Amino acid sequence: MPEATESESRKLLGRLREVMAGSDPGQARLDKITQLIGDSMGTEVCSVYLFRDADTLELCATEGLKPEAVHQTRMRLGEGLVGRVARTGRVMNTADAPSEKGFRYMPETGEEGYTSFLGIPIQRLGESLGVLVVQSRDGRTYTADEVYALEVVAMVIAEMTELGAFVGEGAALSPLHQRPVLLRGTCAQEGASEGHVWLHEPRVLVTNPIAEDPRREMERLTGAVEELRVGVDKMLEISAGADKEQLQVLETYRMFANSKGWMRRMEEDIARGLSAEAAVEKEQSQARARMGQVSDAYLRERLSDLDDLSNRLLRILTGQGSQTGAELPPDPILIARNIGPAELLDYGRSLRGIVLEEGSVGSHAAIVARALAIPLIVNVQRVIAEALNGDHVLVDSDQGVVHLRPDESVVTAFRDKMAMQAKAQERYASIRSTPAVTRDGARIGIHMNAGLMADLPSLDSSGAEGVGLFRTELQFLVRSHMPKRSELVANYARVLEAAHGKRVVFRTLDIGSDKVLPYMKPTDEPNPALGWRAIRVGLDKPGILRMQLQALVRAAAGRPLTVMFPFVAQFEEYRAARAELDKVIAGERRLGHRLPERLEVGAMLETPSLAFAPQKFFDEVDFLSIGGNDLKQFFFAADRENERVRRRYDTLNTSFLALIERIVERCAISDTPLSFCGEDAGRPVEALCLAATGIGMLSMRPASIGPVKSLLLRSDLGALRDVIADARERGEQSVRPAVMDWLRAQG
Ligand code: PEP
Ligand code: MG
Repeated sequence: MPEATESESRKLLGRLREVMAGSDPGQARLDKITQLIGDSMGTEVCSVYLFRDADTLELCATEGLKPEAVHQTRMRLGEGLVGRVARTGRVMNTADAPSEKGFRYMPETGEEGYTSFLGIPIQRLGESLGVLVVQSRDGRTYTADEVYALEVVAMVIAEMTELGAFVGEGAALSPLHQRPVLLRGTCAQEGASEGHVWLHEPRVLVTNPIAEDPRREMERLTGAVEELRVGVDKMLEISAGADKEQLQVLETYRMFANSKGWMRRMEEDIARGLSAEAAVEKEQSQARARMGQVSDAYLRERLSDLDDLSNRLLRILTGQGSQTGAELPPDPILIARNIGPAELLDYGRSLRGIVLEEGSVGSHAAIVARALAIPLIVNVQRVIAEALNGDHVLVDSDQGVVHLRPDESVVTAFRDKMAMQAKAQERYASIRSTPAVTRDGARIGIHMNAGLMADLPSLDSSGAEGVGLFRTELQFLVRSHMPKRSELVANYARVLEAAHGKRVVFRTLDIGSDKVLPYMKPTDEPNPALGWRAIRVGLDKPGILRMQLQALVRAAAGRPLTVMFPFVAQFEEYRAARAELDKVIAGERRLGHRLPERLEVGAMLETPSLAFAPQKFFDEVDFLSIGGNDLKQFFFAADRENERVRRRYDTLNTSFLALIERIVERCAISDTPLSFCGEDAGRPVEALCLAATGIGMLSMRPASIGPVKSLLLRSDLGALRDVIADARERGEQSVRPAVMDWLRAQG
C-alpha cells in the first residue's frame, strides 16, 4: 500500500477524531463526517444511511445530495443499491450504477447524473448498522485503496454509532439499543419471567477507534497477540488429555493466533489510522459477515472459533474482564451465545430466565435449566447484538418470545399474564397434599422427575409422593471428569436423605445418543439414538455400571433402594443387568457392608419391542416405567430432537394409546406396577388420558404437578374412557379433539 495513501487516510481519521471529540450534537457530527469524506476523496457525493428500524434505511446525512432529502428518503432492506449493500453486507463498486440490477432512482435526492457508486456496509460485529456511499459524475470504479480507506472510515462510523455519537437533537435517530425489540426462538423450558439482562460475555466497548501513533498501536497489538498465543499454548498443555473435539478447537485457535494473514490485515488497518482494538474488531466484523454466508458447517465452526479468539484478544487489549465491573442485577435474565451445564449450575437458581442465541432443546444446558425450573428459550437470533447489560427484558418461554426493552403496553399485558399464572399456582399450592383421586375414585400416584441435587427442594414444595425417575446421568454430564465411587456414594446418600423416606427410583446411567459425557471418547455412530447407549453401554462395559450399583447400595446403607435400568429392549438385557446387581449385592455382603432393607428392581419400557416380551419378563420385574419420550419416537419413527418431525404425531393418537393399553394389560396379568415418566405425564390432557388407559402412576417435572393434579381431581375417568372408545369407533386418528370437546362441555 503506498505510503501517501496511508497517511491520507490517517489524516482523514485524525479529522474524524476531532469531530468525535467535539461537542457538536449528533446531526452536526454526521454532517461534518460526510463533508470530510467528500473533500478528502474528491467525490461529489458522500452520504450516510442508517437503519431506522430492522427493515428500513434512512438517509441521515449527505454532502452533495439535496439537503431536504435528509431524514425523508428511506428504503427497505434489499431495495435499491443501498438496500442491497445493507442486506448482503458486501461492498458495491460500480462505474455505471443505473445499469445495475435493482437500481432505484430517488428523485427527491437529486442523484441523477451521478453514475459511479461505491457503497460500503457499516457494520459492527456482524450487525448491520447502515451504508456509507460515495458517488461521482464521471463513470469510474473506485480504486482498491479508496475502497479500503472507506472501509476503515465505515468501521469508525460503526463504532461511533454504537457509542451513540449521532443521537440527539435534530438527528431524528433513536439511539441504538434503546428501541423495544421482539425476538423469537424455541422454548426449551416453559415459564414466563421479567428481569434485567445479564450478558454471560458482555460486549467489549471500543471507545478509541482512531489512534494517532501507529507504531505504538502495532506494539500494543503484537504484545496482545503474544499474550494470546501463550494463553492458547497453556490451554493446550492443560488439555492434553481432553477429547478430540476440544483439542481440535484449541489447535484451530493456535492456527489463527499464528496466522500471518490475520496479523497482516490488522497491521494494515492500524497503518490506516485505526487503534489496535478497532483493527481487531474490523477483522472480526468481516469474519462474522462471512459466517452469515457460509453454509458449510465445518467452515462456520472455524469462523466461530476465530470469533472467540478475537473476543479474547479484545479483552486483553481493552483490559475489560469477563464482566467489566458490572453487578449481577437482582433479577437476572442470562443472555449468552451458548453456555455449558457447569457454568449454568454456577449461576444456579439466581437466574430468572435464560435466552441463548444458539443452544438446542436437548442440550446439557437445557437439561440443567429444566432441573432448576428456569424458563429457557434457545435459537434466538441477534439477541447478543441487541441486548445490553441491564436492559429490561420479558421472557415468555411458552410462546418462545423475548421482549427486549418492552414498552408499557407490552409490560402491562405480560404482568397480567404472570398474575394469572401466580393465581393458578396459589390454587395448586392449596391442593399440594391432597391425594390425586378422580371423581370416580381412581387413585393416581403423582411423582416427580429429578436428576440433580438442585431438584430436591421441589419434593416437598410440589407435593410429589416420591421421585419416579432420578436421571443419574445428569450428575455425570455436568462434570468435567468421571466422578469417583466415593463421590457417587456421598451424592446418592444426600439424595436419599433429602427425600425423607419417600421412594426414589434411581435410573442407572443413560448415556449415549444425545447425552455424551464430555470426558468419554465419543463414538462415531451413524444414528446415535438407535446406537450404543444406556443399558447397552452398561452391559458391554460393565465397569461403570458396577461402580454405580455399588455406590447405590452403599448410599442406601440399610434403607430401601429402588433401581431401574434404562432402554431395555429385550428380556435378556434385563436379566443380565439384574445379574450384575445381584453380583454387586453378593460382593457387598462379603465385604460386610449393610444391604438395602428392601430392594426393588425395574426397567424402563422405551422400545415397542419390550411391550411384546414374554409374559415371564412382566412376572420377573418388580415394576415398569414407560419412557414415553423414547417410546413415542421409536413407535412413530420420528426423532424427538428433530424440530421438523417431533410434533408431527400426537401422543393421543389411537395407535399409540392402543400400545399403552397393551402394556397396561400385560402388567395387570402379572400384577406389575406400571408408571409413565416421559414428558407427556406432565401435560394435563395427556396425563388424564394416560390415567384413563389404566396407568396408575405418573412422574413429571415438579412444575407440572399442580396443573395435572387439578385436572385429575375434577375428572371422571369412566366417562372419559367412553369418549375415547367412541372416538376410536369412529376411526379417528387422535382422540384429542373428542377429549377437548368433552372437557370444554364440562367447563
Ligand atoms: C423417556 O424416554 O421418556 C425418558 C423418561 O427418558 P429420557 O427422556 O431421559 O430419555
Ligand atoms: Mg429415555
